[in-house]
Amino acid sequence: MGVCQICRRQPAAEFTIRRHVGMIVVQKFVRFRGYLCRDHGIQASKDFLRKTLVQGWWGIISFFVNFYAVYTDLMALSKANKLGPPVGRPAHPQPPAFAAPLAPPPPPLPV
Ligand SMILES: [Zn+2]
Repeated sequence: MGVCQICRRQPAAEFTIRRHVGMIVVQKFVRFRGYLCRDHGIQASKDFLRKTLVQGWWGIISFFVNFYAVYTDLMALSKANKLGPPVGRPAHPQPPAFAAPLAPPPPPLPV
């Protein structure tokens, strides 16, 4: 059993999470493989699944390939949910690499 490659906590398991982007004619495959704790495994699986469900269907071949990406993401999410809670303090209190970018600052208040 490894340690989470983001927060260095245990328990962690090896995950393979896929994302598919269909662009009518061309396709793009994104794959993450590495050790994650429960919290980061759930976060990454949901992030990949959400993007796949939006971006994966656009193309004739992509429509069918996307079912496989959705399946692997659901399996990763199920695997993450079965892990125990991570123990200890996170080694790096920074957001993971696959987190959504920070929101832009709010517009200035009207005067
Ligand atoms: Zn972690």
